[in-house]
Amino acid sequence: MSAVGIIGRCVLERVALVGCPDYERGRVEEAVARAFELLGGPGAVVGRGESVFLKVNALMPYDPEKMVTTHPEVVRAVVLQLDGIAGSVTIGDSPGGPFTPSFLKRFYDRAGFARVAEETGADLGYDTGVMHLKVPDAGVMKVVPVCGAMVKADRLINLPKFKTHMFMNITGAVKNLFGAVPGMYKLSFHSRFHKDSDFANLLVDAALAADADLHIVDAVVGQDRNGPRAGDIKPMGVIAAGPDAFAVDSAMMAVIGKTPKANKPLAAAMSRGLTAGDLSDVELLGDSVEELAVHGFRMPDKKDIAEYVPEFIMQRFGSMMSLRPRPAEGRCTGCGKCAELCPAGAITVVGRLARVDLKKCLRCYCCHELCEFDAVELDRPLLLRLVRARG
Ligand code: SF4
Ligand code: SF4
Repeated sequence: MSAVGIIGRCVLERVALVGCPDYERGRVEEAVARAFELLGGPGAVVGRGESVFLKVNALMPYDPEKMVTTHPEVVRAVVLQLDGIAGSVTIGDSPGGPFTPSFLKRFYDRAGFARVAEETGADLGYDTGVMHLKVPDAGVMKVVPVCGAMVKADRLINLPKFKTHMFMNITGAVKNLFGAVPGMYKLSFHSRFHKDSDFANLLVDAALAADADLHIVDAVVGQDRNGPRAGDIKPMGVIAAGPDAFAVDSAMMAVIGKTPKANKPLAAAMSRGLTAGDLSDVELLGDSVEELAVHGFRMPDKKDIAEYVPEFIMQRFGSMMSLRPRPAEGRCTGCGKCAELCPAGAITVVGRLARVDLKKCLRCYCCHELCEFDAVELDRPLLLRLVRARG
């Protein structure tokens, strides 16, 4: 995360915004090439012969058309840009759950990353070694466990998919780097940092520890409302890139017409003085925010109410106004994966149906995010319905 432009006493982070209407191969290649060019070319990020790790978003083993994972055409276009410069390129992630090669293979195959590797000669990340890194100016975690392969590479390039997130509101450049934390560690962090602000600070710490050299956000088509897995598909038509995760996320919040504080990790970074959030410390390159403006982007249901309910009421009665996870009879297979992954131990499986103990539930929505059968419904409690009707 390095500052690159200085005007007067103000240090400016550069962010390239480039329109890209869809995932047609030629158009994605052109947009990614233009983003690199605006930032000085791939050689400005990667030295000749260096190893590069491309940290994708491989949240679930889903087809690219579900718009849950970084689109393979974006990954492919980035690999092509590095051709002839990088010594090696590895595509990888650590999704929630066991951090094992067989688990990873399912994700890489389904999301199209294996095909990109085959076509381009890139490697897939199966090294499950873990390193513990000190966080400079830590907020809540002084030492963070990270996937060794990501930080051992000479260069780490972060390739997030831009979506809403039930817990953090938005998953962009900062949130995607939580994927640098190996699978099962993530779950223990959910139970340890269950307050929004603490978890957001943890994400900032993880991003600082991973210290990616470049972030290229796939916001061509993402998700709004109740993402990051089961939201509504939202065409946005944008590739956003830059060396600073906070600046890139700030630019994307402007593009979707939302206040930067609505992105919880960005709000945490703002309160720690790591970014202004309002683009006053950003030099925008390429297409303008106005040209690329995304209209009608909807935030998660749960978070809409926080905009007009005072914070002290949210703190006291927040759980009564939060969506309630409920495995749906008929869709729930009783596979038990959610019970294994629930950081609060709030889920038990009875017969072929999972049940949630709402008194224990932290409202982290990991079960909703990670159920492969799309079986977890989010019910609106009466108080939430009343507040929304008045808002
Ligand atoms: S809710 Fe989903 S993950 Fe949980 S037991 Fe049912 S099918 Fe499995
Ligand atoms: S039941 Fe679901 S939302 Fe509640 S703590 Fe467990 S994983 Fe999180």
